[in-house]
Amino acid sequence: MKILVSNIGSTSLKYRLFDFSDGKSGVLAKGGFERVTDYAATIEECLTQLKDGGHIESENDLAAVGFKTVMAKDISGCVEATDDVLEAMEFYSSVAPAHNPAYIAGIRQFRAKMPDKPMVALFETAFYQHTSTAAQRYAVPQEWYDLGVRRWGFHGASHKFIAERSAELLGRDDVAERARNLYVNAGASPVDGPDLRVISCHMGGSSSITGIRNGVAIGTSMGMSPQSGLPHNNRVGDLDSHALPFIMRKLGITADEAQETMCKQSGLQGVSGVSNDIRDIAEAAEQGNERAKLALELFVHQARHWIGAFHFDLNGADALVFTAGIGENRSPLRESICANLENVGIKLDAEKNNNIRAEEAVISTDDSPVKVMIIPTNEELVVAREVKRFLDNR
Ligand code: AMP
Repeated sequence: MKILVSNIGSTSLKYRLFDFSDGKSGVLAKGGFERVTDYAATIEECLTQLKDGGHIESENDLAAVGFKTVMAKDISGCVEATDDVLEAMEFYSSVAPAHNPAYIAGIRQFRAKMPDKPMVALFETAFYQHTSTAAQRYAVPQEWYDLGVRRWGFHGASHKFIAERSAELLGRDDVAERARNLYVNAGASPVDGPDLRVISCHMGGSSSITGIRNGVAIGTSMGMSPQSGLPHNNRVGDLDSHALPFIMRKLGITADEAQETMCKQSGLQGVSGVSNDIRDIAEAAEQGNERAKLALELFVHQARHWIGAFHFDLNGADALVFTAGIGENRSPLRESICANLENVGIKLDAEKNNNIRAEEAVISTDDSPVKVMIIPTNEELVVAREVKRFLDNR
């Protein structure tokens, strides 16, 4: 069974082809396109690459196309991306402007190209379906809550992968199994079961920190939209809700203009004034750029804030995991985040931290009560597995 997973951004399309035949679960091919303006042409090019590489003879060889979709009204989990589902995604297009419109357009184009193949969506919100009502709720009137003004949580595929893989690496196959089957276990609860407490830090172009007990999320830094929580590359992160009407009135700008600024000119880019890439910001900081230094300090401050919140909620932690572009690669940032935390059991080994990049590793000292780990994430594998499960259960 071959499943194509397509990761669609507002101007990019990345893909991975998985083969699950005969018990296999490996990646056959991967690739991507930047500066995409025409999804139909890019999809054609993607299929041509797969054919030229000898991975498929025609699109008939694909069992389905899977998508790491973000959010939809009253829909989560793994579902076929029917018109109703696309409409439900459209409902939140303004909440996830960098994601929902691109996925809707991309899925429509894939469907036009392959009308007989299932298009299957795994929503990023799915990992948070078992969080408590108190963890989901903002203190807004019921009517707002009913429209979806609540904490949803995102990066679900990535944090789910970390929940599974960290448990495996910690020798806890029972918890890994629990995390693996989470989306088909409606009654899963973080409370019962064997105790394993993990704080997962997905830090990349966008970042979030999730508390995980026994393979199940208890809460996360992102709220109603993927713009919330930690500062992102150019998205704002948490902001007091009253700042928005204030700045609209003071600057005489519309809600759309304010939203554009919060989505494209804020975050690390907005604070540093240098770049949206942490590598450029770190370089500028080393050369003495004060705004660049502040952007890094702000990121570290926010990361520690959320790690602290989940460390407390979980009554300690067995592992603190770093993943994604920044988490896997930026050792100085990991060092700043973990600095002076011996009293809560987090002791980073400076040498291990400096010498390891983007590979699975424990980077804490041997006597550190909390194991600090790097685990490269694999969101596409999570999507592919869930799509396979969806097809098997049909
Ligand atoms: P992601 O969204 O996971 O692809 O992460 C993208 C971000 O991670 C980039 O904006 C960079 O700031 C950072 N990043 C990616 N690769 C590296 C690397 N090799 N070294 C340092 N930072 C990196």
